[in-house]
Amino acid sequence: MSPDEVLELFRRSGALLEGHFKLTSGLHSDRYLQSALVLQYPDLAERLGAALADRTRHLQATAVLSPALGGIVIGQEVARALQVRALFAERQEGALTLRRGFTLAAADRVLVVEDVLTTGGSTRETAAIAQAHGAQVVGAAVIVDRGSDSARLNLPLQALVQLQVPTYRPEACPLCAANVPVVKPGSRA
Ligand SMILES: [Zn+2]
Repeated sequence: MSPDEVLELFRRSGALLEGHFKLTSGLHSDRYLQSALVLQYPDLAERLGAALADRTRHLQATAVLSPALGGIVIGQEVARALQVRALFAERQEGALTLRRGFTLAAADRVLVVEDVLTTGGSTRETAAIAQAHGAQVVGAAVIVDRGSDSARLNLPLQALVQLQVPTYRPEACPLCAANVPVVKPGSRA
């Protein structure tokens, strides 16, 4: 699946909006990404998962580990295509942990899977959990790499698409300067 094909799936499902948006941070942007809106369609989630599996099969992972909640659906689909287990880590008192009886062992080769890589913080934290359980982390896979310093991951990274989304303070926003009406995503415009 090419980057353009991935972006087209996002656009068609409303997961990538183009316009003038006020983000929850208060910053403005000309694009808004909500991957849950593409992943709500199981056939699209399955296709994206299969595409990531094709790119990571050579890593010979024995398990996929994803951070909840955003990574669970795509993690499940990558694991389905690789025919390995799909585990997720979830926050307990602020820290990601393995719960629900999920286990990893020294023999496990773990692929960390997320929907969107932004700062890389949750990917690194998820990898650290696998390592704390004695497993080897063989790589990371994401649908969208928003491109903030993936070198800091210290892991081989596969992404279906690179997407830099600039953000602006309202007073420095070129769309505000052009009097384009601003929309808060998630609310009806
Ligand atoms: Zn603006």
